[in-house]
Amino acid sequence: MDKLKTRFAPSPTGHLHVGGARTALFNYLLARKSGGSFLLRIEDTDRARHDETAVAKIVDDLRWLGIEWDEGIEVGGDSGPYRQSERLEIYTEHIQRLLDAGSAYYAFDTPEELGAMRQEAVQRKETFRYVRPESFPTADDAEKAVADGRPVVVRFACPQKDVTIRDDAFGEVTMPAGQMDDFIIRKADGWPTYHLANVVDDALMGVNYVCRGQEFLGQTWRHVLLREALGMDEPRYCHLPLIMDMQGRKLSKRDGDVEVHSFRAAGYLPEALVNFIALLGWKSGDREKYTLAELVEAFTPSGIGKSNAKFDRDKLIAFNTDAAAEADADRLLAGLKDYLSLNETNLPDDEDVLRRLLRMNRGFRTFADILGKCGVLFAADDSYGFDPKAVKKVLEKNDGAGYAVLSAIRPLLAEVDWTAEALEKWLKEYCQAGSLGMGKVAQPLRVAVTGTRISPPIGETLELLGRERTLTRIERCLRQGVSGV
Ligand code: GLU
Repeated sequence: MDKLKTRFAPSPTGHLHVGGARTALFNYLLARKSGGSFLLRIEDTDRARHDETAVAKIVDDLRWLGIEWDEGIEVGGDSGPYRQSERLEIYTEHIQRLLDAGSAYYAFDTPEELGAMRQEAVQRKETFRYVRPESFPTADDAEKAVADGRPVVVRFACPQKDVTIRDDAFGEVTMPAGQMDDFIIRKADGWPTYHLANVVDDALMGVNYVCRGQEFLGQTWRHVLLREALGMDEPRYCHLPLIMDMQGRKLSKRDGDVEVHSFRAAGYLPEALVNFIALLGWKSGDREKYTLAELVEAFTPSGIGKSNAKFDRDKLIAFNTDAAAEADADRLLAGLKDYLSLNETNLPDDEDVLRRLLRMNRGFRTFADILGKCGVLFAADDSYGFDPKAVKKVLEKNDGAGYAVLSAIRPLLAEVDWTAEALEKWLKEYCQAGSLGMGKVAQPLRVAVTGTRISPPIGETLELLGRERTLTRIERCLRQGVSGV
């Protein structure tokens, strides 16, 4: 494989979408695998929509995933600056070259005039295409138009010929000459459009492999023609298939999280998300489990397919459950702390307690499970409610058998050694002595101290809570039962 120089070129509008994360990951892997390099460029020429915090968010999301870049914002490099907003002069110079060569021309149509042209095309049942003037306006004409308050743009004079792209995923894709039009390369505010800036930067930054989402495939002919007009070499192209939800619709917020940051805040591990994202449009045989390092080894462009990828959230949860089960204690502690830093919770930041919670919850799916099951143990003893279904089934059924068990064991618990092991042993013996199933005692206890039927093993739950608080909670539960609240 030749050394590939790849790039990720997001337009900063907010946190990184999983689709963007996939593009970044594939570019990173292609560069690493080929011994090339990966750069991060910020495409922020749309000054009206600019959001400075979005750049920091994207950087943070990429780093959390473990995707590092060799060149680009924050790390520097030889072909910077790496923010398009700092490269206006470079674009201006290239646009001038195109103007001088007669490959581009000024146009001064007002929005109303353009609207009328579109309207006419609709009436003729044709797709609107800008009609190139017979002779191009001069720079003086353009100046005069500016003075008259007209919006002056620069359009590319598209050579009318078929353009065929050889795409690594989609194969040969041809854009017939008749469907092209003289698109805008400089807007009236003086900033270049995406097409011009993107092409100039890729060429000047030495990018030789352009890998991005399928939504750009239909635009690539513009880039091919611009490069040709500017005498720039063509890169290889690879467009990544669309990502769909399980109903076959384009992935959107409607059916859950779609931003990397949301998964982070929801308690996922980056290694699981990276593994999952890698399989959105790429595969190598039947293997599914990869670390980032293993992906670097295994990744090849030939594994990138063109059929739509499916965003299977259940699979992601399964990946996360496995990743959590395989991670060592320090890794999990760091992950849990990160999760807690992004959520307002009542969990303490004491590392010993957090380690204990991780042990108690072994087999958890996401860090949110730990909070869901154990948050109540850190709440005030009189602050949690009782799940009505649990009360009915575990406490009230059979003439209040659950309440009876709680009343019976409450004084005995005052005497038991307060360790998880001793508590489990005592519970077992108590049940054996009374020929009771473990659940008949453990479940009422669980409902009493957590309000629900779900908690980690009962011994560990009680040990963490401590004797005094356990007894207080049992008493409160019994009071509620008696008063029927
Ligand atoms: N700035 C473009 C975007 O929003 C980059 C497209 C490309 O990779 O060429 O995603």
